[in-house]
Amino acid sequence: MRHSGKVKYRRQYLWSIVFTDPDFGVLHDISIHQYTIPIVRFNNKSWINNRLKSVNPQDYHAVQKTLRYLYEDNASMNLPRNHFKIAEKYLDTAEKIVARWLITRTNGSERKNYGPFAGIEAKESRYRCRNCSSSDVRVLYLDHVAGRKSDKKEFRCLCANCHMIKSRESDWQRAE
Ligand SMILES: [Zn+2]
Repeated sequence: MRHSGKVKYRRQYLWSIVFTDPDFGVLHDISIHQYTIPIVRFNNKSWINNRLKSVNPQDYHAVQKTLRYLYEDNASMNLPRNHFKIAEKYLDTAEKIVARWLITRTNGSERKNYGPFAGIEAKESRYRCRNCSSSDVRVLYLDHVAGRKSDKKEFRCLCANCHMIKSRESDWQRAE
């Protein structure tokens, strides 16, 4: 009995924390928690309202706009830089990484190559790789589905590994 109890504990531990934490999704390594965005935050008005409670009144509008940009599917994918600058100090580590990554593409120097559709795809992916569900925001990439030179603005959120594998597939086909 003692033995089976131990096995059960170990299984529960692996299942609930290391591999599929319900809030964070797939985690291969517990240390990436701070680089992962919990699924429960998306389209969750009461969660956003709670976040806004501790915000200074003069910063409220900018923080609200930034949180909606990050988490609400029907929000505008246009986040002016001055709003983001105000909101930045209220964001957690993963949010800062995602917001900087996206704002460059929706409102910054990469707008021409990406634009709002790239932001929508990233948000709809819940900041996870579409292929392997990796949730580490440090390695996310917005892949141009039809290639970078195409006029089609269609994107797919992938992690660095899956993106590299996709990019190299044509090399391997040529080598066969
Ligand atoms: Zn992946």
